[in-house]
Amino acid sequence: MRTQVSRKLRTELVATSHKLADRAWVANHDGNISIRLGENRFLATPTATAKADVCEANLIEVDNRGKRIAGTARPFSEIAMHLAVYSKRNDVVAVVHAHPPYATALACSGSTIIERPFLAEAIVSIGPYIPTLPFAAPGAASVRVITENASSVDCVLLANHGVFSWGPTLELAFLRMELVEHLARIATLAQATGGVQPLPDSVVEPLLQSRAKAGLGDAADRAMEFSRKPVVACAPAPHSSTATVTHTSAGAGAKSPQLAAIIKEEIARLLK
Ligand SMILES: [Zn+2]
Repeated sequence: MRTQVSRKLRTELVATSHKLADRAWVANHDGNISIRLGENRFLATPTATAKADVCEANLIEVDNRGKRIAGTARPFSEIAMHLAVYSKRNDVVAVVHAHPPYATALACSGSTIIERPFLAEAIVSIGPYIPTLPFAAPGAASVRVITENASSVDCVLLANHGVFSWGPTLELAFLRMELVEHLARIATLAQATGGVQPLPDSVVEPLLQSRAKAGLGDAADRAMEFSRKPVVACAPAPHSSTATVTHTSAGAGAKSPQLAAIIKEEIARLLK
């Protein structure tokens, strides 16, 4: 059974890696993905490998200090940032890192136009707040900024770097990255006609309540708390309300069909 689960996760990791390449969210050897296989055991993409060339044979396994315990390739240097997320979030099963161009453009320019998601779907899946963390040099400084924020959010923009997202399944971690890039693209296009308008708080509130019921992880469960107190010192507070999440276990099936149904239902109700 365990072998079957592990094989499924390996296949999923390879497919997701190829998706990062297909969408041009990475260049050169950029980007990396990891999955929690068990206590102190993580499956990861190899370093110095284009995401299009990742295959089951070159995947590696590392322990909770980033030391390789299976496979032949070397671990990527940003594995410490992934491990920082896992150490703060027992509910997280997968971490995805890439440089999707619209979101990375915002992260590099210092724009905060997607800091407060303005689409209903994003409030449910990501929450009321997408922080841009200050630039941090690779190594201890990067690990520190991730560690300081991993408990409260499910994705971050890193200034002059790219995007990290995580979730209770690899599918959800990837979908969050996709949603961040989608928001960034729309917000950038909307600049030509005056920029995006925020969702009213009266709409955000019920969406956050839906988020709380959707089985999306710890940050969603605690969103109320974080919405009152911004995590990043220089960032404005997120929407006045909150969000929530519940757990799914490692390797468990994605909750996205259920999530999609909740979002659809909630939006239909709000539009009435
Ligand atoms: Zn990077």
